[in-house]
Amino acid sequence: MRQSQLASSTLRESPADAEVASHQLMLRAGYIRQLAAGIYTYLPLGRRVLRKIEQIVREEMDAADAQEVLMPTLQPAELWKESGRYGVYGPELMRLQDRHEREFALGPTHEEVITTLVRGEISSYRKLPVTLYQIQTKFRDERRPRFGLLRGREFLMKDAYSFDADWEGLDRSYKRMYDAYHRIFQRCGLAFRAVEADAGAIGGEGGTHEFMALAEIGEDTIAACDCCQYAANLEKAESSEKIEEHGADTASSTEASIEKVYTPDVRTIEQLVQSLCVPATDIMKTVVFMADEQAVAVVVRGDHEINEIKVKNALGAENIAIADSETVARLTGVPVGFVGPYGLSLPVLIDREVARMAAGIAGANEADHHYRHLNPQRDLDLTRVGDYRNAAEGDGCPRCSEGKLKFFRGIEVGHVFKLGTKYSEKLNASYLDASGRSQTMIMGCYGIGVSRIMSAILEQHHDGNGIIWPASIAPYQAHLVLVSTKDEVQQQTAEELYSGLRSRGIEVLFDDRDERPGVKFKDADLIGIPVRIVVGKDAEAGKVEWVERRSGNKETIAIEEAVARFSALRNDLSAGV
Ligand code: ATP
Ligand code: MG
Repeated sequence: MRQSQLASSTLRESPADAEVASHQLMLRAGYIRQLAAGIYTYLPLGRRVLRKIEQIVREEMDAADAQEVLMPTLQPAELWKESGRYGVYGPELMRLQDRHEREFALGPTHEEVITTLVRGEISSYRKLPVTLYQIQTKFRDERRPRFGLLRGREFLMKDAYSFDADWEGLDRSYKRMYDAYHRIFQRCGLAFRAVEADAGAIGGEGGTHEFMALAEIGEDTIAACDCCQYAANLEKAESSEKIEEHGADTASSTEASIEKVYTPDVRTIEQLVQSLCVPATDIMKTVVFMADEQAVAVVVRGDHEINEIKVKNALGAENIAIADSETVARLTGVPVGFVGPYGLSLPVLIDREVARMAAGIAGANEADHHYRHLNPQRDLDLTRVGDYRNAAEGDGCPRCSEGKLKFFRGIEVGHVFKLGTKYSEKLNASYLDASGRSQTMIMGCYGIGVSRIMSAILEQHHDGNGIIWPASIAPYQAHLVLVSTKDEVQQQTAEELYSGLRSRGIEVLFDDRDERPGVKFKDADLIGIPVRIVVGKDAEAGKVEWVERRSGNKETIAIEEAVARFSALRNDLSAGV
């Protein structure tokens, strides 16, 4: 491609609304343009990168014997009503009507469509297992579309769905996708971790893993052991059974009887720490939640965070939210800040670490008062003790004896999920087994954010001058830069190299523009093609400069050598190195 003809151009300034590096760079280097919030056009360079990612995904899906299909984006609402999700999916689902006022949705995911499809196509165990996938535009009316392609409202996803005759089959299908995902993200040049995740709203039984690209701007927190392979999303990460310190209610002993103390307007843990001169580890923090229609109180140690997902799962609730202050006052008769587990008229869930405290401080269920010397073993109902808190950095690993948990930020680039029979039951996807009995298919679903990967890669691969693409997904393999369009030898050498490389199947972006060399080099750094071939003064001696974008290393080499190196690189790439 001749850069003089390239439809996009680079921008000097970062657009003000682009907050993160990947978004800024994609706009500045001319990979994408925004049409509306969370909705983007891929310019020629961006489209090429996206196709490379798609290709890697496709190759690995095909290698895992998944079969590619393409399903409609427009989905009849009836299907969503049949699965029971039309009502619960919420405002993320883009809804519309046709001219006959029939309701439709723009697909945010395709469980309903694929299950209906397979129900019609497959009726015998002989055709199972089967895994189908597609690479397709998805629509989700995200509450906060942001960070460019990271959270779009229209985005490209690879979604795959497996159908098995039994649960062991699902385990095998899941493992094949799990392994394929490792290869995909490796080939894309991503630093990532597969983490145990919560089953979330999509429902289903069994395991689920998220694939997290490590990045500071990631919205998710990963807790990973510094010793073994354990890694989990913070929502899911188990807190360790091993305790390092007991809350000891420093001012008391275990035997001391409960004492009410006057704590006017002292509502928060920080205020309690200040006014009573105790560490947060001595305090029992009580928070009231509404879980569906039920009110419950959850108690964790003052230095811990409540994990709403764990609470929700323990209660088997669909939705959970912290009760607002009016609700708290109505339900308990106590102003927020003074609710405590002792003598409370609500069901109380007590975190394991609280149950282990020798004694502690908690709200006294009376305005402006707290209890001291509250001994959980003696004073509290410990029938609902469980793990209700977020794991904390430095906690002992829940799996191995030596390790400690470290926290990382991550971008979810993929998700593998054992659905079980959630959809196949509702939508009647069944098959006849060897003895002619009807059985429900066992499903898994597997998503990859194809467009999100592009942003995630950029978060990991850039420097102050611009993008540094991993070779496997760079829009072009070579950036050929002609220093002076006025110099005939240079001009001719560059033209020959351009056609020579192209005839060998190498993808070349040829900067043939009549621009100053400084401008060209700056743009080349910004665009981020891994190797730059500079045709300058040395062209007369049959030499060019070979510049590696990542290291900045420069070498003057013979023209034939440059061609030979590319041919070798090309072989590496096609071998998936
Ligand atoms: P998130 O928690 O980030 O909203 P999700 O759990 O809703 O993700 P899935 O339903 O599992 O995502 O979708 C599969 C994959 O699609 C995700 O792993 C992610 O890579 C990608 N994805 C999801 N939502 C978006 C979005 N709004 N923009 C771009 N990619 C997305
Ligand atoms: Mg989402």
